[in-house]
Amino acid sequence: MLQAQRSSQRVVARRLRESSVQLGRWQSQRSYASSSEPYDAVIIGGGPGGYVAAIKAAQLGLRTACIEKRGALGGTCLNVGCIPSKSLLNNSHLYHQAQHDFAKRGIDVPEVKLNLDQMLKAKEQSVTALTKGIETLFKQNKVDYIKGTASFLSSNKLSVALNDGGSTEVEGKNIVIATGSEVAPFPGGGIVIDEQQIVSSTGALELTKVPEKMVVIGGGIIGLEMGSVWSRLGAQVTVVEFLGAIGGVGIDEEVAKQFQRILGKQGMKFMLNTKVLSAEKKDGKVFIKTEAAKGGKEDTLEADVVLVSVGRRPVTEGLNLDKIGVEVDNKGRIVIDDQYNTTVQGIKCIGDVTFGPMLAHKAEEEGIAAAEYLKSGHGHVNYNAIPSVVYTYPEVAWVGKTEQELKAVGVQYKIGKFPFAANSRAKTNLDTEGQVKFLTEKETDRILGVHIIGPNAGEMIAEAVLAIEYGASAEDIARTSHAHPTLSEAFKEAAMAAYQKAIHF
Ligand SMILES: Cc1cc2nc3c(=O)[nH]c(=O)nc-3n(C[C@H](O)[C@H](O)[C@H](O)COP(=O)(O)OP(=O)(O)OC[C@H]3O[C@@H](n4cnc5c(N)ncnc54)[C@H](O)[C@@H]3O)c2cc1C
Repeated sequence: MLQAQRSSQRVVARRLRESSVQLGRWQSQRSYASSSEPYDAVIIGGGPGGYVAAIKAAQLGLRTACIEKRGALGGTCLNVGCIPSKSLLNNSHLYHQAQHDFAKRGIDVPEVKLNLDQMLKAKEQSVTALTKGIETLFKQNKVDYIKGTASFLSSNKLSVALNDGGSTEVEGKNIVIATGSEVAPFPGGGIVIDEQQIVSSTGALELTKVPEKMVVIGGGIIGLEMGSVWSRLGAQVTVVEFLGAIGGVGIDEEVAKQFQRILGKQGMKFMLNTKVLSAEKKDGKVFIKTEAAKGGKEDTLEADVVLVSVGRRPVTEGLNLDKIGVEVDNKGRIVIDDQYNTTVQGIKCIGDVTFGPMLAHKAEEEGIAAAEYLKSGHGHVNYNAIPSVVYTYPEVAWVGKTEQELKAVGVQYKIGKFPFAANSRAKTNLDTEGQVKFLTEKETDRILGVHIIGPNAGEMIAEAVLAIEYGASAEDIARTSHAHPTLSEAFKEAAMAAYQKAIHF
C-alpha cells in the first residue's frame, strides 16, 4: 500500500516537473518570440558595453532584452579579461611582496609557498560572483536575458540559436550590436595558438604550472600585465616588441622608458625593435625565431610557454551584417556616426566591435549614451577623458594628451612633475618609485594630459579625468586641499609645479 502511494507520488511529481518545464518553455518562447510585441531595445552581447546598455535602457523605461552566447554575462572583461587578470595581478603581487619585500618592513615569514591551484580558484570565485551579480541586476531591472547566438534576419528581427537547443526569433524596434572583440591571430598565420604552450591572454590566465621560461610577443598592456604575473610567480619572462617602446598606444614616451626600467629591475627582459617570425614546438619547448624590426639580425629564443598578445579584433562573424547592409571598415570594425548609429536605421553599435580604445569603461560609457540616445535623442561620451591603466607594479595610468601628441600638433605646453620619492606617504610606505606628470596649455594653464607611474596610479588618475572633464586648470588642482599624508599630495604638487612651483621638491 505504502509502496503504491509512493509510486503514485513519484508519478505526480514527475508530471508536475514536466508540466513546469513545458510551461517554462512556453513562457520563454512567448517572452522572446512574441512578434506582435517587439522589444523597444534588443542588445546583442552581454559584455560591459551590452549589459550596461541593457540595464540603462530598462531603467529609462524601455522594454529590453540582452542576448549573450557565452552562457555568462560580463563579456570578455569579466570572464577572460579585466577581472581574472586583476585577480592574478593582485595575488601574484602579494606573493612576490611576501617573498622579496616583507623582511625589510620587519615582517619575517618562515617560508612563502605558492599554491597556484588556490590562486586560480580565487580568480574563478571573483569571476563567478561578478557574472552572477549581473544576472541579479538584470532581474532587478527587468531585462530579459536570452542565452544564445544572435544573427540578423532583417534590420529589426534576429534569429537566436539558443544555448539549450532550438532557436527563436526576437524582434526589436531598436537593436544595439555590442559583440565585442576576440584575440587576434598572429599575422600571417605563422604561429598557431593551442592555449597550452602557445597561449593567448585567455590561456595565460589558466596556466596550471609556472613556466620556467616565458616569451611574450607584444609589449602592450595585456602582454605586460600577464608577463608581470608569471614573472612574479617565478618565470623568466622576455617581452619581444616590434616598436621601440613598451606600453602600447597612448603612453607618454618618457613614462614608457621609466616603466621599462622599473620592470627590468624586477627581472623582466625586453627585446624592442624586434619582429617575431615564427614559433615552432619541439621536444616540449617552443622555439621562437626573431629578427630586427628593420630586417637583418636573426635570433632564436627558447621558451616553455609563449604568450601571443598582438592585439584583438572585432567580432562580427555570423551576425549576417552583409545581408542587412551594416557597413564595416577595413579593420572589421562596424562603422558608426557620433550617435552610435550604424549604416542601417534602427541599429546602433558600441564597445570593442566599433572604433576607439578597446577598454571596458569606454564600452560602458557608450552603453549608457546609446541607451540615452534611444530614449531621448541625447547622450554624451567625452573621448578626451577616457583613462588608461596598466595594472602592473607600479601601476601606470594616463588620460588626455601625451607630450609627443602635443609636439606633433604644435601646441605650446608646460610640464609639471612630482616624484613619489618626495611624497611623505610614499616614503612612509617604502614605495617611492615613479612620478606624476602634468601637461598644461602654456597660455591658459588648462590641463591637457596627466601621466602617472607609481603606487595607486590607477585610482589616482580618476582625479585627472574629472579635472579634464570639467576643463580644470593646474591652478584649480593646486589650490584644492588634498589630505595629508596621502599619495594624492603628489598629484597636487605636480599641478603646483605646472602652475608655479612645487613645495616639497
Ligand atoms: C586579458 C585582458 C585584460 C583586460 N583588462 C582590461 C582592463 O583592465 N580594463 C579595461 O578597461 N579593459 C580591459 N580589457 C578589455 C575589455 O575586456 C574590453 O574592452 C571589454 O570587455 C569590451 O566590452 P564589450 O562589451 O565591447 O565586448 P565584450 O566584453 O567582448 O563582450 C561582447 C560579448 O558579446 C557576445 N557575443 C558576440 N557575438 C554574439 C552573438 N552573435 N550573439 C550573442 N552574443 C554574442 C560575446 O560572447 C561577449 O560576451 C582586457 C581584455 C583582456 C583580453
